[in-house]
This record gives sequence, structure tokens and C-alpha cells, in this order.
Amino acid sequence: MACNIFYFLQSYVIILTSGGMEEEKSRIFIISEVFKCQWESKGVSFLEQVYPPSMDKVTREIEKNVKKNKDLSKIYEVYKSVLAVQLQYMDRIEKTISIEADPDELKDLLRNGTFILSGYTLNMEGKLYKELVQAICEAIKEASAEAPDNLLNLHTAEEFTEGANLETFIKDIAKLNKQDLQDYLERTEMDQRTGLDSEVLSFVLVMALSTFYSVYMKKIRENIDFTLWRKGHCPVCGQVASFARHRGEDGARVLLCWLCHAEWVFPRIECPYCGNKEQKKLRFFYLPGEKARQVHVCEVCNKYLKTVDGKALERDVLLDVEAIACGYLDDLAEKEGYKRPDDMTQMH
Ligand SMILES: [Zn+2]
Ligand SMILES: [Zn+2]
Repeated sequence: MACNIFYFLQSYVIILTSGGMEEEKSRIFIISEVFKCQWESKGVSFLEQVYPPSMDKVTREIEKNVKKNKDLSKIYEVYKSVLAVQLQYMDRIEKTISIEADPDELKDLLRNGTFILSGYTLNMEGKLYKELVQAICEAIKEASAEAPDNLLNLHTAEEFTEGANLETFIKDIAKLNKQDLQDYLERTEMDQRTGLDSEVLSFVLVMALSTFYSVYMKKIRENIDFTLWRKGHCPVCGQVASFARHRGEDGARVLLCWLCHAEWVFPRIECPYCGNKEQKKLRFFYLPGEKARQVHVCEVCNKYLKTVDGKALERDVLLDVEAIACGYLDDLAEKEGYKRPDDMTQMH
């Protein structure tokens, strides 16, 4: 699965049909000097954020972002409602899954560069998935009157008929990247049958999947940390990272998985997508006045990584909250001719 919440920014805009996303056209776009930082991973203790975050922390972060950009407030309303449902269901999902592996075996997988869930048959209980999708739809509708009314009927679609049908549907969609998922939904006419745009439909389906993946990550993380992992994709679910933060405490680059919310340290002077370590070919840029929100690019593979600098921001960030605030960086990167890393998915 290669879609992520950043690419789903468009989904929020479609959900909130009144829009409200202000164009960044008036701002001057600059490219920084060649990135000269000599920082390297020092193998210090792994200071990661705990997922899920508390709702209080999320609310405080959102307030800070909305103060700077009021146009984001409606999007954050929808985001917060969906998150509240996800948090509630994480507790329930936790009771239905278990990772019965010896920590040493898990470490061996990481040492060999194999992401952990690649060898597992995921247990995503159909009934629970259906309930979760329904709860997410209701939450979106409650947060935004502008959201499509048809969301409330999604659970009646034939895909959600309980039994083998539903289990197969979940297995099928869990394998697809964003474009493939939308194509699938259009090919099976699920969009037409439900009266929902395939973008909105895929958003809801993936938000529900992400809740299951996050529980898997949490369980795995209770057994091992990810310090052995040095890849550009997630040690748990294989999703390619498209977001990073420079840790406030020590400047370490931490890659973040939007799907399962794993975090792992990755060297700053190395492209996570092609492994290029030539410093001259690694650069970053940002908008004037927004130094903490950067686009890091590689001139070898032409891919970009959105990065938030915790030091410049003077605090560490919450991935999903920051992702919404950083949505404009995708446009900037694309205007400069760089590509998203989304076609390199490692998903099973
Ligand atoms: Zn992951
Ligand atoms: Zn590269």
C-alpha cells in the first residue's frame, strides 16, 4: 500500500467541499545552499514518540497549527474525529491479535532487512473492520456537515456482507497502493454503487486498515526496538517512508510510517530511497519563514522526503498533525521536478 495521509490531503478537501485550502502561490520559493551538515547517527538511545498520542497533545498541536493557518481548521476537525474513533478501536483490536514470536527471531528479521509483517498472515477481523469503517464514516459526517451523506450508507455495500466475502475484500485492498485501490474501487463499481468518490472511499477504507496496522506495530514494539533497521521502508509493515523528523533532542533523523506509525532512525547523509550517500547530491529547501518544514531531495533518484526539523520548530511533532500542516510541501516539491516515493512500495 503506497497511499498515505499526505496524499489524502486531497480527500479532506473533497470531503469538505467548500475547500478552504489557500494556495501558496504568492510565496517565494527558494532553494537552500547545498546541505552541508555533517551529522551522522550516533547510535544514541532511541527516543521515539509513543503511539497513539494522547488526545490532549493532539489538540494542543492542532491549536498551534491553526493559529498559523486558519484554513486548516476544518480539515483538523475531521482528522480529530477520525483519530478519536481509531483510538477507541485500537483497544478492541488489541484483544483480537497476537504476535507470538520470540524477540530474537524478530531481531533476526530486522538484521536481514526483512520487514516483520511480511511473514505474517494478518488477522483483520471482518466484523470489527466493518464496524470501524462505519464509525469512521459517522465521525466524519458529525465533524463536517459538508461531507457526503452517502458515507452513512457505506456499510450496506455488498463488500461488507459478513463472511468470506468481507474477509477477501479486506485482504484484497490491503495489498493495493493508492492508485491501484482507486482503480479497484472504480473497476468493481463500488464508487458508483455507494455514491462515493473513489478518493473518499479509499481514504475511509485505509484509515480503518491503518488502525489495525498501528496495533500490530504497538505489539511488536513492546518486544523489540527498531535500532537494527536501516532501510527507507517501515520495519513493521514495509510501507515506504515519506515523512521524517529531525529529533529535537539530538538532531537524529527519524523516519515515520504513516500506516502503522513505527519510527526508526536513518542516517541524515543518505537517501532512504536509493541509498545515495554523496553529500553534493542531497539538498533541501523550504519556504521563507518556514525553515522547520523542509523538503529533502536526492539528485540521483529524484525523490523527495518531507522533513520537520524539531530543533527549528523548538518541539517534536506528531506525524499526522504535522502532515496536514505540511501538505503544501508536496506541491512545492513537484513544481521543482521531484517525485513522491510512492511507487516504490514494499508491501506484501
Ligand atoms: Zn509501517
Ligand atoms: Zn535517492
